[in-house]
Amino acid sequence: MAGNLRSMRRDPINREGLRPRFWERVPLARMTRAEWEALCDGCGKCCLNKLEDPDMREVALTRIACRLYDDETCRCAHYENRRQIVPDCVVLTPENIARNAYWMPATCAYRLLWEGRPLPDWHPLISGRPESVIEAGVAAHRWTLPELDVPEEEWEDHIIEEPGT
Ligand code: SF4
Ligand code: SF4
Repeated sequence: MAGNLRSMRRDPINREGLRPRFWERVPLARMTRAEWEALCDGCGKCCLNKLEDPDMREVALTRIACRLYDDETCRCAHYENRRQIVPDCVVLTPENIARNAYWMPATCAYRLLWEGRPLPDWHPLISGRPESVIEAGVAAHRWTLPELDVPEEEWEDHIIEEPGT
């Protein structure tokens, strides 16, 4: 069904009642749970499969998405019980950001703040609109391929430049 993106898209992340511009003044480790969760811009790019050269610590992004990724909503289709289906799905926390930041998307708010950089203007915490992420061309939206449809030996053929960088 066609429709107006602005009227249809609802922010699935609660960004109400947070300290004003907390991301500019509160260290990651001292944020409340709600503030930590609100950092996610909903781009979905962390749910794309990557190919890593462990010796070089180089990570290539592909358009092949995790089997649970819904690229219409840019969300995990079974977020609550995802670890039962995808055991290696990483739950990012202040404690493990140091060892995971290197493979996170370059625009990811967790990585940006970890690296001491500001959030972009299209981030919903700044724009006030979740759809600004798709409008900025940053999200993994309607161009991914499900991993179950593409044999793993072909993933290399689907390496992409990270959108929004
Ligand atoms: S890449 Fe970062 S900001 Fe984007 S969906 Fe994943 S955790 Fe959220
Ligand atoms: S299990 Fe869900 S949250 Fe984890 S990578 Fe897959 S789609 Fe993303």
